[in-house]
Amino acid sequence: MLRTGLVSAPTAAARLFSSASARFASTLVIAEHDGAVLAAGTLNTITAASKLGGNITVLVAGASPKAVADTVSKVKGVSKVVAVEHAGLKGLLTEAVTPVVIAAHKKTPFTHIVAPATTFGKTIIPNIAGKLDVAPISDIIGVKSEDTFVRTLYAGNAIATVQSTDAVKVVSVRTTAFEPAAATGGSAAVESSSDGAVDQTQSVFVGQELVKSDRPELAAAQVIVSGGRALKSKENFKILYDFADKIGAAVGATRAAVEAGYVSNDLQIGQTGKIVAPTLYMAIGISGAIQHLAGMKDSKTIVAINKDPEAPIFQVADFGLVEDLFKAVPELSSKVKAK
Ligand SMILES: Cc1cc2nc3c(=O)[nH]c(=O)nc-3n(C[C@H](O)[C@H](O)[C@H](O)COP(=O)(O)OP(=O)(O)OC[C@H]3O[C@@H](n4cnc5c(N)ncnc54)[C@H](O)[C@@H]3O)c2cc1C
Repeated sequence: MLRTGLVSAPTAAARLFSSASARFASTLVIAEHDGAVLAAGTLNTITAASKLGGNITVLVAGASPKAVADTVSKVKGVSKVVAVEHAGLKGLLTEAVTPVVIAAHKKTPFTHIVAPATTFGKTIIPNIAGKLDVAPISDIIGVKSEDTFVRTLYAGNAIATVQSTDAVKVVSVRTTAFEPAAATGGSAAVESSSDGAVDQTQSVFVGQELVKSDRPELAAAQVIVSGGRALKSKENFKILYDFADKIGAAVGATRAAVEAGYVSNDLQIGQTGKIVAPTLYMAIGISGAIQHLAGMKDSKTIVAINKDPEAPIFQVADFGLVEDLFKAVPELSSKVKAK
């Protein structure tokens, strides 16, 4: 069960409970990876897990999890790595991974089970919570104590503090809200198994189509150049790609640009896309709809280029330029070249 609202200072009894239970806290982090490389958000999730107190075990499930398990064993703060190998774990389908998590939890009960709030984590966390008959807590941005978490509501326009009274807290973590754990400095033991809690009866991984790009990955990029409907066509996005490549930035987009077919939907930033918080976010030809702001307003510096001085994006921008983007961006680009 979840209690939402402003949580008052803990009573003496609650403090006693939390310090007594803290000794027994143990967290299972579900690693996200592609079979070869650990997804960066797992490191941020490990940092969130470290704020819960107690030992951190990381589960690496996969068709061949060994390499990723080795990587995870070196991450600072990790006490143990459980590597579960099974051909049916290819693609990390929720239906295959969930029984593996439940089996691990049956063996050594955890007080917390956490995953990054990526598409992977957003799918698996509610499934695990359903199996354990507890309420999941999605997309946390802060940890107040081992049972109290901070998350956003209404497209980031309200912040809720929620307290869970469930025996197991099943949580997804907004990776941009936590620093990544150090990738080195740890020496956790790796426990390998190939036992088959894997359920292959419900779904099978057939294949995937990945967008190939040499640009930095959106979720981890320090600089993002993002375009909206104003770009008017797929071809015109080249202006942004050229500029982004010059400054080593990732490229993002609004839903309007995705729906118009200018870019693929993995570039969408916002409430129904990716949530990013780079050092610099450049919103180009973007009005600043509430659903877009939900995905980027925690960026350190926001720059907006828009020809409408009344565009809502200027209310969140640190620097704004009222100008036609087709004039401003090539000009900016040429200035960078001149540097
Ligand atoms: C449930 C729901 C979920 C949603 N999720 C998302 C989401 O995740 N992400 C998202 O982005 N949106 C999302 N949306 C859509 C959102 O409401 C807006 O429609 C969308 O963000 C608008 O995109 P835009 O800023 O590119 O387009 P517009 O709102 O059309 O803005 C274009 C802007 O470009 C400016 N402009 C035009 N021409 C030029 C030029 N030549 N030079 C400079 N500026 C120019 C205009 O002044 C305008 O401000 C969601 C909507 C709903 C209902």
